Amino acid sequence: MKIATQAAQVGLDRETRTGAVTVPIYQTATFRHPGLGQSTGYDYARSGNPTREALEVGLAKLDGGARGFAYASGMAAITSLMFLFRQGDHLVVTEDLYGGSYRLFEKLFQQFGLSFSYVDTSDLEAVRAAIKPNTRGLFVESLTNPLLKVADVAALATLCKERGLLCIVDNTFLTPYLLRPLDLGADIAIYSGSKYLAGHNDTVCGLVTVKDPALAEQVYFHQNGAGAVLGPQDSWLTVRGIKTLHVRMDRQQENALAIARWLTGHPKVGKVYYPGLEGHPGRELMAARGTGFGAMIAFEVARPELVNQLLMKTQLISFAESLGGVESLITFPQVQTHADIEPETLKRLGINNLLLRLSVGIEDKDDLIADLAQAFEGE
Ligand SMILES: *Cc1c(COP(=O)(O)O)cnc(C)c1O
Repeated sequence: MKIATQAAQVGLDRETRTGAVTVPIYQTATFRHPGLGQSTGYDYARSGNPTREALEVGLAKLDGGARGFAYASGMAAITSLMFLFRQGDHLVVTEDLYGGSYRLFEKLFQQFGLSFSYVDTSDLEAVRAAIKPNTRGLFVESLTNPLLKVADVAALATLCKERGLLCIVDNTFLTPYLLRPLDLGADIAIYSGSKYLAGHNDTVCGLVTVKDPALAEQVYFHQNGAGAVLGPQDSWLTVRGIKTLHVRMDRQQENALAIARWLTGHPKVGKVYYPGLEGHPGRELMAARGTGFGAMIAFEVARPELVNQLLMKTQLISFAESLGGVESLITFPQVQTHADIEPETLKRLGINNLLLRLSVGIEDKDDLIADLAQAFEGE
């Protein structure tokens, strides 16, 4: 079945008592045992809850994984994955990484003896060169944040296989609708479901899919052992969000391309980063590996004063962190999302005091462009 069909049918319930079409919210902490040594399949809700399971099974199908796992947030999901490593292990990581992941690695996991090297993962040779004798994993963002560099997940997965590394792909910006990392050879995909999957700026959640059943068993052990599971209400909201993933994404991408083209011609705009634009260095690779370019745009304004002007004057587009929801958002990465990354690194990467990031929603594209146009006026 096509992914649109699978998405719409996520969480479709087979409950026979009432025939409820959508999976109920099982707001229960524990489950009654039918007899001594017997179980309905559910014992205690940290270990398993039918609403969460509907989400986990549904996502695993979308991604072609053996199993899926839902966590309290994207960071909780990544934390849980770090339990796959041991003291002394080294990981190679995307350099223009989500700020929260960088903080987790550097400020929390380093003290337990894990070490991390940050490289441009759109450069296969740079990744190869960063592998050390104690390297055990690669953590790569399929499309980076905020500079939208494209990683060749298939080539990286092959390299990981050759060198015996676990290949983990943060596929938050693309979702299974646009790229399926496990099909390309990755071992694990991770998502901040708070973004496109839940899709309505109303839920915080993290999701993981795992290709191999034995590895999935380990991930389950860590999910249950560490316990940062997603609650039933938020699992239900995420199921509800996923049902329209493809429809939202199609519209968001259409809007993003129109806005990126409009920005490109604007006299008060410098560089525009959008992988769907002609001339973007990752465009062909993305077209070859996946089915779209996403709906995130980064752009530089001509002068630093324009940053504040735009953040204050856009009305339809909200000045807020996060991304991927139906409402368009604008943010200033240097101060908002990437504050934990060292200033020299930001400078080298090009995350400067001119760079703004747009998460394009499903509104009418003409209205979005008009909002940006009026925000640029004056000054
Ligand atoms: C938001 C985000 C995360 C963290 O997810 P939360 O749900 O906010 O904890 C991780 N990776 C990427 C790429 C993100 O955008």
